[in-house]
Amino acid sequence: MKIIVQKFGGTSVANLECMQRVKEKVLRALNQGSKVAVVLSAMAGETNRLIELAKTWSSRPDPAEMDVLMATGEQTSVALFSMLLKDAGIKARSLLGYQIPIRTDKEFGRARILDIDEDRLRSYFKNYDVLVVAGFQGCDCEGRITTLGRGGSDTSAVALAAALKADLCEIYTDVDGVYTTDPNICPSARRIERIAYEEMLEMASMGAKVLQIRSVEFAKKYNVPVYVRSTFTDGPGTLVTQEDESMEAAMVSGIAYDKDQARVTLVDVYDEPGIAAKIFEPIAAAGIVVDMIVQNPSREGRTDMTFTVPKGDIDKTVEIISKIKGEIGAKEVLTDRNVSKVSVIGVGMRNHSGVAAIAFSALKNENINILIISTSEIKISCLIEEKYTELAVRTLHEAFGLDKEPEKTC
Ligand code: ADP
Ligand code: ASP
Ligand code: MG
Repeated sequence: MKIIVQKFGGTSVANLECMQRVKEKVLRALNQGSKVAVVLSAMAGETNRLIELAKTWSSRPDPAEMDVLMATGEQTSVALFSMLLKDAGIKARSLLGYQIPIRTDKEFGRARILDIDEDRLRSYFKNYDVLVVAGFQGCDCEGRITTLGRGGSDTSAVALAAALKADLCEIYTDVDGVYTTDPNICPSARRIERIAYEEMLEMASMGAKVLQIRSVEFAKKYNVPVYVRSTFTDGPGTLVTQEDESMEAAMVSGIAYDKDQARVTLVDVYDEPGIAAKIFEPIAAAGIVVDMIVQNPSREGRTDMTFTVPKGDIDKTVEIISKIKGEIGAKEVLTDRNVSKVSVIGVGMRNHSGVAAIAFSALKNENINILIISTSEIKISCLIEEKYTELAVRTLHEAFGLDKEPEKTC
C-alpha cells in the first residue's frame, strides 16, 4: 500500500476556495494510486483568535483547558474538509489526535509526541482512502488533549509519515519552498532545491517558521525526506534531506531572523562559581528557554551577565531574578524588548573561514550595531536593534551572494 502524507497550513485551509485547491492536491495523489493521510492546521487566524478569546475569560488560562480550546481550530478544519471530500464521492473520514491516538507527554501547550498507534492508523485505510487528521494535537496517557506548540501541525505530519513509513511527506504552505531567507521580507530570496536536515534545523531554530523545529528533528531522526511545496502553485518545492557533498559547496545557504527576543542584563553580579547556575536553574525550572548568554570579563570580583529570552517570558524572568537578586549580588536588572536576532546559516561554514568577518562588515556598512554574537559550527547569530531586522536580513543576504544562482558543481 503506497501512502502519502500531505500537510496543509492555515492559509491553505483559510476558506472554502482554498480548501477546494487542497482537494485538488489530494485528488491528484489519490489518482496516483496512493492512500492519503491529510494533516490540517486550523483556518488562518483561528489559533490566534482562540488565544485572545481565552485571555478575555481568564488572566491565567489553565494550560490543559487552553489545549482543549486550541484543538478546536484543527477539529473544525478536518470536519469541513472531510465533508468536501465526501461530497466528491471520496471515502474519507476525520481523525482527531486522541482518536488515533497520538500519545504525547503532559506538557500542555508544547507537548512532545511519544508514540503513534500506526497499526490502528493503517487499519483505517481498509475502509477509507483518505484520512483527514487534525494537526497540532495529541493526548497524554490519561487521555487529556494536548497541543504541540505553535506550528505543530508540521510535526504531526512528519511524525505520521515516520510512523506510517510513508512513501512521501509533503508540507504544503503559502510559499513554494524553503527560501534563502523569508521571501516576504526579501524580494531577492531564492528557492532552495535541497537543504540538509541540519541546516533546516538551524533555520527553523533561528526563526524561519516555514517548518516547526520539532518537525525537522523528527524528519532527521527517522530519515523522512520532506518536500515543502505551495498549495497555490505547482512546482518541485524544496527537499529537506540528508546532507550531501553538493550542499557543502555553498559557504552560506540561508539567513533567518527572530523578532521574538528580549535582552536581560544583570549588572555587577558576583563572579564566583555557582552564580550562573543560581541564575539559570530557576529560569529553566519555569520552562523559559534562554537563548544567547554572554558574561563580561571580571572587574574586582564582579561581572555583567546578559542573556535573551522570548519576549513573552520577560516579565516572568524579571520576577524570578528579583527573588535571587541579593544572593547573586546584582546591582541592577536591565531589560530591552526592542531587539531581534539575525542568523547566517550553512553547513559549508565548516570548511570556509572568514564567514563571520563578512557578516560583521556587512552590518557595519549599514551602521547596524551588534549587541551580542553567538556561533555554532554552522551558524553565526547577531542580536541587533529590532528596527533594523529587515535591513540586516537583506544586507546579509546580498553580502553572501544568496540573491544569485549558485555556481553549478559537477
Ligand atoms: P503554514 O500556515 O502553512 O504552516 P507558516 O506561516 O507557518 O505557514 O510558514 C510559512 C511562512 O514562513 C512563509 O509565508 C514565510 O513568510 C515564512 N518564512 C520564514 N522564513 C522562510 C524561508 N526561509 N523560506 C520560506 N518561508 C519562510
Ligand atoms: N494552528 C496551530 C498554529 O497556528 C498549528 C499549526 O498551524 O501548525 O500554531
Ligand atoms: Mg506553520
